[in-house]
Amino acid sequence: MRKKIVAGNWKMNMNLQDGIALAKELNETLKADKPNCGVVICTPFIHLASIAQFLDQDIIGLGAENCADKEKGAFTGEVSAEMVKSTGAQYVILGHSERREYYKETPEILKEKVLLAQKNDLKVIFCIGESLEEREAGKQNEVVKAELEGSVFNLSEEDFRKIVIAYEPIWAIGTGKTATAEQAEEIHAYIRSIIAEKYGQAVADDTTILYGGSCKASNAPELFAKPDIDGGLIGGASLKAADFKGIIDAWK
Ligand code: PEP
Repeated sequence: MRKKIVAGNWKMNMNLQDGIALAKELNETLKADKPNCGVVICTPFIHLASIAQFLDQDIIGLGAENCADKEKGAFTGEVSAEMVKSTGAQYVILGHSERREYYKETPEILKEKVLLAQKNDLKVIFCIGESLEEREAGKQNEVVKAELEGSVFNLSEEDFRKIVIAYEPIWAIGTGKTATAEQAEEIHAYIRSIIAEKYGQAVADDTTILYGGSCKASNAPELFAKPDIDGGLIGGASLKAADFKGIIDAWK
């Protein structure tokens, strides 16, 4: 059975002290009340090494929100996959729409990042999703297919099996507008069908596909009840332990 996951994406929020406090609170909460799913927190780079010191990674996986598309060298300000791994983190989010849009990350750049992340034994949470304009033009399937083909369908079956996909309609991220459970299920099922076409049904059945976009405790149960939605990638609602726990508890 494929893994159910609730992953938090802290984005550029919280200084080191506040980040440590949140991770500690979550760690204690989930140790006392064990989740029925995998839980991951993806934090700014600067938090990783400190949080890795105390986080019980059997219960909460730790990840970065990005890594460089180069192995090492004269790339001022960049952080490599190897550096991320050396902090004790296990995951990395790649392909987030904010990085595609604001930092002009192309499918080719993301393909390099995925290869380097996997080379350094990081589990990739790979984000895909259409803009409002693309949804209104009925192009959502085309867009997600091109994003998968552009950056991860080059992987061997063995390596593709290590990827977690996050479907995040851009129009639902941070806007308070959630895709309906039916809208999300429709495209999740489509994503699974193209994975089946490429790698076979067994791989598709084992691939975890998360939904992201204004997911919160109130709508998570309905979304997670859908057969092809295996959890969530959570932005805003991952910044408070109680809100994040409310989403995790949707699997109970
Ligand atoms: C995200 O950015 O990955 C996300 C899903 O954000 P939010 O939950 O705030 O919409």
